Amino acid sequence: MPSKPAHRTQPPLSWRIFFYLLGFAALLVLLLWLFQIVYLDTFYRKVKINEITGAAAIIGHNIENINNEELLSLMDRLASERELCIRIYNLSVVGNNERLDDVFAYDADVLPGCVIHHLSLAEVAYFYNSALDAEGPYTQVISGDYLRNRTYNPGFFFSRPTVISSGESMILSQVFNTSNGDEFLVLLNLKLEPVDATVHTLRIQLYFITALMIVAALVLSFLISRGLAIPITRINNGAKRLAAGDFSVSFDGKGYRESGELAQTLNFAAAELSRAERLQRELIANISHDLRTPLTMIGGYAEAMRDLPDENNAENAQVIIDEVKRLSSLVNAVLDLSKLQSGVAQPHFTEFDLGELTESLVENYRRLLTQEGYKIIYEGSGEAWVKADQKRIEQVLSNFINNALTYTGPEKDIKIRLSNLREKVRLEVIDSGVGIAAEHLNEIWQRYYRLEGAHKRAAHGAGLGLSIARQVLEQHNAAYGVESEIGHGSIFWFELPLLP
Ligand code: ADP
Repeated sequence: MPSKPAHRTQPPLSWRIFFYLLGFAALLVLLLWLFQIVYLDTFYRKVKINEITGAAAIIGHNIENINNEELLSLMDRLASERELCIRIYNLSVVGNNERLDDVFAYDADVLPGCVIHHLSLAEVAYFYNSALDAEGPYTQVISGDYLRNRTYNPGFFFSRPTVISSGESMILSQVFNTSNGDEFLVLLNLKLEPVDATVHTLRIQLYFITALMIVAALVLSFLISRGLAIPITRINNGAKRLAAGDFSVSFDGKGYRESGELAQTLNFAAAELSRAERLQRELIANISHDLRTPLTMIGGYAEAMRDLPDENNAENAQVIIDEVKRLSSLVNAVLDLSKLQSGVAQPHFTEFDLGELTESLVENYRRLLTQEGYKIIYEGSGEAWVKADQKRIEQVLSNFINNALTYTGPEKDIKIRLSNLREKVRLEVIDSGVGIAAEHLNEIWQRYYRLEGAHKRAAHGAGLGLSIARQVLEQHNAAYGVESEIGHGSIFWFELPLLP
């Protein structure tokens, strides 16, 4: 049985998004739980301590104004704004064994059940000493139970508070000195509300929030994954058709930018695939045509030589040899191109004189072809040293010259021109033939490309020559091109940097 494809075992997009959202929701709920429930009381106390020490600091700042109305009205304002009560003792006037009533004190009292107005001397002394020890604000929380169960003897609590709240009281004591040596004890009292009831309510709310979050994560993940997946599914269906060989498929990536880009890339790939397939088909047709003709010739001549004693001569043997050469050059071209394209054939750079190479190549052509009426002219200006793969450059040059010879006009003349430009050398192969229409100028460099009707037997290769040239020149980072006009011949050229 075939094993499941790997992607089948992976969770779908919707699940993945759902788990991410669920994780996010869990994090939120956890944070809410920690802050609203577990640490609510701690936070509340921190806030209250800040409030009460802040108020003490303000009073401390203004303690010099103790004898005028300014401080008293400030105390009233603080007391009502922050819901606390304030008592300030002028300790400089406290004598031994004095009752607290006799001590000079300033009050702001807005809090029912306030504790600091009912402290005994011992209690005041306790807070005074604690503040001195703390060398700053000293805070203490006293529970309602503690207050209620206290035995109110005059030695400790001076009198029973009229209302004792069930909650806790926070008391602050701090000692301030004025510039004229007076010492003041500031007592502040603030009620702490119990947070239990709030926590209970919040906990119930959190249950609801948790349930809502799970539902929201489900719905959102469904919506998001649908939005993400629809274009992908559409493109996937198209890709399946493409894989099955339907190159007419058009990809639609509507949805978001990434899907649009993916569709565009796939459309391009489909067009390229379809073009490559068409060219491949044409190549096979061309190559089989090019293979069949020499093979027929070879077969025919060999049979004639075997059967007819008269035909068994050197000319017929030469025909067979020529056709075999043609065949092997075709096969070599196909091999060359596939090696160049697969990157197996790395260029082998050497320094050589392009002028000399061209001149001797042209000389060879001239020797072979002058009899057939070809006029091959070389226009060169001496040496031109370059660093390149000599064999490959020679191949490019031969391809250009072969094409020029093939496509040149009835005058049968071609020109090879080598010009030394400032830092580079330019090589041009010029013919006076049919020329190439502007719309084909780019296509002729494509592999297997042959112009309609250009397929004649004299042609070398099978539409591979220029594409081999292009591969080689691109490997050399060389500039190359063609200038041509219908009926006015063509100029194929390339440029290589000159060695200093
Ligand atoms: P082949 O010459 O084997 O057909 P090439 O790759 O060398 O293949 O050339 C591709 C096509 O470019 C040719 O089929 C021809 O149509 C066109 N071509 C190349 N050189 C010339 C030229 N000098 N003049 C006109 N057409 C040319």
